[in-house]
Amino acid sequence: MRAMTTALDTPYRSHTCGQLRASDAGSPARLAGWVHRRRDHGQLIFLDLRDRHGITQVVIDAADAPDAHRVASRVRSEFVVVVTGDVARRLEGTENPRLPTGEIELRVTEFTILSEAKTPPFYINEPEAPVDESVRLRYRYLDIRREPMQQRLLLRSRMVQAIREVHHDHGFVEVETPTLIKSTPEGARDFIVPSRLQPGTVYALPQSPQQLKQLLMVAGIDRYFQIARCYRDEDLRGDRQPEFTQLDLEMSFVDEATVMGFVEQVAIEVSRATTPERPIRQVPFPVFTYDEVIERYGSDKPDVRFGMELVDLGSVLGGDGGPGSGFRVFDDALAAGGRVKAIVAPGLGGATRREIDDLVERARRLGAKGLAHLSVATGGEVKSPIAKFLSPEMTAALVERTGAAIGDLVLIIADTPDVTADVLGRLRVELGERLGLADPDELAYVWVHRFPMYQWDAELGRWDATHNPFSGVVPEDEPLLVTASGDPARPSPDDPAGRARALQYDLGLNGWELGGGSVRIHRRDLLERSFLLQGHTLDGMRDKFGAVLEAFEFGAPPHGGIALGIDRWAALLARQTNIREVMAFPKTASGSDLMLEAPSQPETSQYEELGLRFVGGPGKVSDEVAT
Ligand code: ASP
Repeated sequence: MRAMTTALDTPYRSHTCGQLRASDAGSPARLAGWVHRRRDHGQLIFLDLRDRHGITQVVIDAADAPDAHRVASRVRSEFVVVVTGDVARRLEGTENPRLPTGEIELRVTEFTILSEAKTPPFYINEPEAPVDESVRLRYRYLDIRREPMQQRLLLRSRMVQAIREVHHDHGFVEVETPTLIKSTPEGARDFIVPSRLQPGTVYALPQSPQQLKQLLMVAGIDRYFQIARCYRDEDLRGDRQPEFTQLDLEMSFVDEATVMGFVEQVAIEVSRATTPERPIRQVPFPVFTYDEVIERYGSDKPDVRFGMELVDLGSVLGGDGGPGSGFRVFDDALAAGGRVKAIVAPGLGGATRREIDDLVERARRLGAKGLAHLSVATGGEVKSPIAKFLSPEMTAALVERTGAAIGDLVLIIADTPDVTADVLGRLRVELGERLGLADPDELAYVWVHRFPMYQWDAELGRWDATHNPFSGVVPEDEPLLVTASGDPARPSPDDPAGRARALQYDLGLNGWELGGGSVRIHRRDLLERSFLLQGHTLDGMRDKFGAVLEAFEFGAPPHGGIALGIDRWAALLARQTNIREVMAFPKTASGSDLMLEAPSQPETSQYEELGLRFVGGPGKVSDEVAT
């Protein structure tokens, strides 16, 4: 990454608070910053002066600088001051090896208070002190003054710098797209903004710049990227905010491998620029098909830093048309087209009854009908409440199939294919974390592709795009984009379309989905066919996607792209589990900004200008912070 070259001196300072070294001893210097800590020894006052760049010790001696001493004796923590003096080596034995400036101090001759400070609601100089998050959000400017938030925002800034550099090095053009647009559906609810000039109409805030970036490809921009703000009116979770930032990019004349290859390079370079000390687990990144990750990890964003893969027990249990296991729960699940699968929790064989009950309860809460378990005791004998339903040979074969060793716990779910995969996938992640199986330093990027193009929406009787309505179809699956009825406007759950695979790829990191993209459909006829399956009428299509459909009649290059969530990515690189920790001014679970007190009631005149009237009282919201 390109380094900063400009000096940071200003009329207020000759150096930053992190800059002076032993080699500066004997020179004059001027520093400005916040009082981090103050120690008053009567004649001598010591201040730690802090700015974003570091901390420098400042000494004010009443004998040498009586005026400065008088002013300094009334400063308190977080006052903003400017001090002038001479850099001196600290007395031997008083150096502070933990500070880069720890060999020197500034002996002050002039001292000016630039701004006074009330006692802050929490200590700025104790980074580890626990502070209620709502207080941190209310006084975010003080929270950001603290070391951990500063470090995280710096990391994020380096990240975005690296992103920009790689893109410019590869011929990308950074283009800003508007925030007041027409709805670009990404499957969430739109935020809308009423228009004053055209009463009764609204803009939507973009859920993503999807249509605009495709139009930029038709416009011949060839390679576009943007650090794009997106808005989705969803219920908030740990990794969701109503507005968030994506690295959004689109490329022309590319296939799937071109986009994945470039994005992989971005991911590697960004990781190296931001967290050079963290190893990337595997390069090139492993590529899985959707079917494979669901089979092996029960998740389309697998954390591959540890094994504990899902094991299919169907063949052992006689699920391949064999006589069955004799255990009703397993046999019935298999007979109904379900799956019986297991994971092995290493070393958990000695789990207490209570711990097992908790796991069973957890599996139920995740949607499974039950959770069977077997443990392999020291002598190799298998203990399990279900052993009495199975022959000893069957039990032994089961254990052998799972690969469980002495001291391990085998957890089994027999349910529909989706529930079995999903619940075991979640238990795998939770247990992997509990057992410390994943290396916290490692960055394990994975690609997942070959997603199903559509999923059946039983309620609306149509196919929904699993990802992006513009996604292309794997070429050999194009003939599948048809309905059983022959009429594209009459879809049904048995349509061949349900088997079509999309040219969609997702990038995952350590069990999180960083984002996804696709090679798009760039032919109007095919896009219309896909939209029909998705339940759009021709008029509806024109209304929602008219610009793209029309543009495709004026020469559209084959194109594809991706969007990666910058907030999630920054959180993972900064070892955080919540994206609020890498956002300067995030919102709470109810979408509030506690500092600016937004949202707020508009002025009556604003309603009038917009021709709006508010019906009903304000809803009750809770201000707790999302977890
Ligand atoms: N627009 C998509 C999203 O926001 C990403 C893409 O397909 O490029 O998730």
